[in-house]
Amino acid sequence: MASPEDNFIDWLRDAHAMEKQAETMLTSMAGRLEHYPDLKARIERHVEETRHQAAELESCLERRGVAASTMKDFAGRMAAMGQGMTGMMASDEVVKGAMAGYAFEHMEIAAYRTLIAAAETIGDTQTKAVCERILAEEVAMADWLEQHLPSVAQTFLQRDAQPETISKY
Ligand code: MG
Ligand code: FE
Repeated sequence: MASPEDNFIDWLRDAHAMEKQAETMLTSMAGRLEHYPDLKARIERHVEETRHQAAELESCLERRGVAASTMKDFAGRMAAMGQGMTGMMASDEVVKGAMAGYAFEHMEIAAYRTLIAAAETIGDTQTKAVCERILAEEVAMADWLEQHLPSVAQTFLQRDAQPETISKY
Protein backbone atom coordinates (compact mmCIF):
# COMPACT_ATOMS: atom_id res chain seq x y z
CA MET A 1 0.00 0.00 0.00
CA ALA A 2 1.00 3.60 -0.43
CA SER A 3 -0.37 6.81 0.98
CA PRO A 4 -2.25 9.26 -1.24
CA GLU A 5 0.75 11.59 -0.79
CA ASP A 6 3.20 8.93 -2.07
CA ASN A 7 1.03 8.14 -5.08
CA PHE A 8 0.58 11.81 -5.79
CA ILE A 9 4.34 12.39 -5.79
CA ASP A 10 4.85 9.37 -8.08
CA TRP A 11 2.30 10.74 -10.54
CA LEU A 12 3.88 14.18 -10.42
CA ARG A 13 7.26 12.61 -11.19
CA ASP A 14 5.72 10.64 -14.06
CA ALA A 15 4.27 13.86 -15.45
CA HIS A 16 7.65 15.55 -15.16
CA ALA A 17 9.31 12.64 -17.02
CA MET A 18 6.54 12.79 -19.63
CA GLU A 19 7.28 16.48 -20.26
CA LYS A 20 11.01 15.82 -20.59
CA GLN A 21 10.21 13.13 -23.15
CA ALA A 22 7.78 15.46 -24.93
CA GLU A 23 10.45 18.13 -25.16
CA THR A 24 12.89 15.69 -26.81
CA MET A 25 10.31 14.30 -29.25
CA LEU A 26 8.83 17.64 -30.24
CA THR A 27 12.21 19.32 -30.66
CA SER A 28 13.40 16.55 -32.97
CA MET A 29 10.18 16.64 -34.98
CA ALA A 30 10.20 20.42 -35.38
CA GLY A 31 13.82 20.23 -36.46
CA ARG A 32 13.00 17.86 -39.31
CA LEU A 33 9.93 19.68 -40.66
CA GLU A 34 10.61 21.49 -43.94
CA HIS A 35 7.36 21.68 -45.88
CA TYR A 36 4.76 22.15 -43.16
CA PRO A 37 5.44 25.65 -41.76
CA ASP A 38 2.24 25.92 -39.71
CA LEU A 39 2.83 22.57 -38.03
CA LYS A 40 6.47 23.43 -37.42
CA ALA A 41 5.59 26.79 -35.83
CA ARG A 42 2.89 25.26 -33.64
CA ILE A 43 5.21 22.51 -32.44
CA GLU A 44 7.97 25.03 -31.72
CA ARG A 45 5.52 27.03 -29.63
CA HIS A 46 4.52 23.89 -27.77
CA VAL A 47 8.18 23.05 -27.10
CA GLU A 48 8.42 26.36 -25.22
CA GLU A 49 5.22 25.59 -23.32
CA THR A 50 6.54 22.10 -22.56
CA ARG A 51 9.81 23.43 -21.09
CA HIS A 52 7.83 25.76 -18.87
CA GLN A 53 5.52 22.92 -17.82
CA ALA A 54 8.50 20.79 -16.76
CA ALA A 55 9.90 23.68 -14.72
CA GLU A 56 6.54 24.25 -13.04
CA LEU A 57 6.26 20.57 -12.14
CA GLU A 58 9.76 20.73 -10.65
CA SER A 59 8.58 23.56 -8.41
CA CYS A 60 5.54 21.53 -7.37
CA LEU A 61 7.78 18.56 -6.50
CA GLU A 62 10.21 20.77 -4.61
CA ARG A 63 7.34 22.23 -2.60
CA ARG A 64 6.48 18.67 -1.59
CA GLY A 65 10.07 18.00 -0.55
CA VAL A 66 11.32 16.15 -3.63
CA ALA A 67 14.83 17.28 -4.60
CA ALA A 68 15.41 18.27 -8.23
CA SER A 69 18.34 15.86 -8.49
CA THR A 70 16.11 12.81 -7.86
CA MET A 71 13.67 13.79 -10.62
CA LYS A 72 16.03 12.70 -13.37
CA ASP A 73 15.92 9.08 -12.19
CA PHE A 74 12.31 8.83 -13.18
CA ALA A 75 12.73 9.86 -16.80
CA GLY A 76 12.71 6.20 -17.86
CA ARG A 77 9.33 5.47 -16.32
CA MET A 78 7.38 7.03 -19.15
CA ALA A 79 9.74 5.63 -21.78
CA ALA A 80 7.91 2.33 -22.23
CA MET A 81 4.58 4.09 -22.54
CA GLY A 82 5.80 6.57 -25.10
CA GLN A 83 8.11 4.27 -27.03
CA GLY A 84 5.65 3.43 -29.77
CA MET A 85 4.87 7.08 -30.24
CA THR A 86 8.53 8.04 -30.16
CA GLY A 87 9.09 5.52 -32.93
CA MET A 88 6.29 7.06 -34.95
CA MET A 89 7.61 10.56 -34.39
CA ALA A 90 11.05 9.37 -35.45
CA SER A 91 9.69 7.79 -38.62
CA ASP A 92 10.47 9.38 -41.94
CA GLU A 93 6.92 10.47 -42.49
CA VAL A 94 5.21 13.60 -41.20
CA VAL A 95 1.76 12.01 -40.96
CA LYS A 96 2.95 9.37 -38.49
CA GLY A 97 4.65 12.08 -36.44
CA ALA A 98 1.53 14.24 -36.36
CA MET A 99 -0.61 11.24 -35.36
CA ALA A 100 1.83 10.38 -32.60
CA GLY A 101 1.79 13.98 -31.42
CA TYR A 102 -1.98 13.91 -31.26
CA ALA A 103 -1.93 10.65 -29.27
CA PHE A 104 0.77 11.99 -26.94
CA GLU A 105 -1.23 15.14 -26.17
CA HIS A 106 -4.13 12.93 -25.11
CA MET A 107 -1.87 10.92 -22.84
CA GLU A 108 -0.84 14.24 -21.26
CA ILE A 109 -4.49 15.29 -20.93
CA ALA A 110 -5.22 12.01 -19.10
CA ALA A 111 -2.22 12.53 -16.81
CA TYR A 112 -3.24 16.08 -15.85
CA ARG A 113 -6.90 15.21 -15.30
CA THR A 114 -5.67 12.50 -12.93
CA LEU A 115 -3.25 14.85 -11.17
CA ILE A 116 -5.92 17.52 -10.73
CA ALA A 117 -8.18 15.01 -8.96
CA ALA A 118 -5.29 13.78 -6.80
CA ALA A 119 -4.20 17.32 -5.92
CA GLU A 120 -7.77 17.97 -4.79
CA THR A 121 -7.70 14.86 -2.59
CA ILE A 122 -4.35 15.87 -1.09
CA GLY A 123 -5.44 19.48 -0.68
CA ASP A 124 -2.52 20.85 -2.74
CA THR A 125 -4.27 23.83 -4.28
CA GLN A 126 -1.09 25.28 -5.81
CA THR A 127 -0.29 22.09 -7.72
CA LYS A 128 -3.92 21.77 -8.73
CA ALA A 129 -3.82 25.26 -10.23
CA VAL A 130 -0.55 24.50 -12.06
CA CYS A 131 -2.01 21.29 -13.51
CA GLU A 132 -5.19 23.05 -14.60
CA ARG A 133 -3.12 25.67 -16.41
CA ILE A 134 -0.97 22.99 -18.08
CA LEU A 135 -4.08 20.95 -18.98
CA ALA A 136 -5.43 23.94 -20.92
CA GLU A 137 -2.22 24.05 -23.00
CA GLU A 138 -2.40 20.32 -23.74
CA VAL A 139 -6.05 20.59 -24.76
CA ALA A 140 -5.22 23.55 -27.01
CA MET A 141 -2.39 21.59 -28.66
CA ALA A 142 -4.57 18.50 -29.11
CA ASP A 143 -7.33 20.67 -30.62
CA TRP A 144 -4.87 22.32 -32.99
CA LEU A 145 -3.59 18.95 -34.18
CA GLU A 146 -7.16 17.69 -34.57
CA GLN A 147 -7.93 20.68 -36.78
CA HIS A 148 -4.76 20.31 -38.85
CA LEU A 149 -4.29 16.54 -39.23
CA PRO A 150 -6.50 16.46 -42.35
CA SER A 151 -4.51 19.16 -44.17
CA VAL A 152 -1.21 17.57 -43.13
CA ALA A 153 -2.41 14.24 -44.56
CA GLN A 154 -3.66 15.86 -47.78
CA THR A 155 -0.48 17.87 -48.30
CA PHE A 156 1.57 14.74 -47.71
CA LEU A 157 -0.47 12.68 -50.20
CA GLN A 158 -0.06 15.38 -52.83
CA ARG A 159 3.68 15.74 -52.25
CA ASP A 160 4.31 11.99 -52.07
CA ALA A 161 2.58 11.44 -55.41
CA GLN A 162 5.14 13.65 -57.14
CA PRO A 163 8.06 11.56 -58.40
CA GLU A 164 10.64 14.24 -57.64
CA THR A 165 9.58 14.63 -54.01
CA ILE A 166 12.10 13.19 -51.56
CA SER A 167 11.44 14.72 -48.14
CA LYS A 168 8.56 13.16 -46.23
CA TYR A 169 8.71 16.09 -43.87
MG1 MG B 1 3.02 18.87 -21.83
FE1 FE C 1 1.77 18.73 -24.64
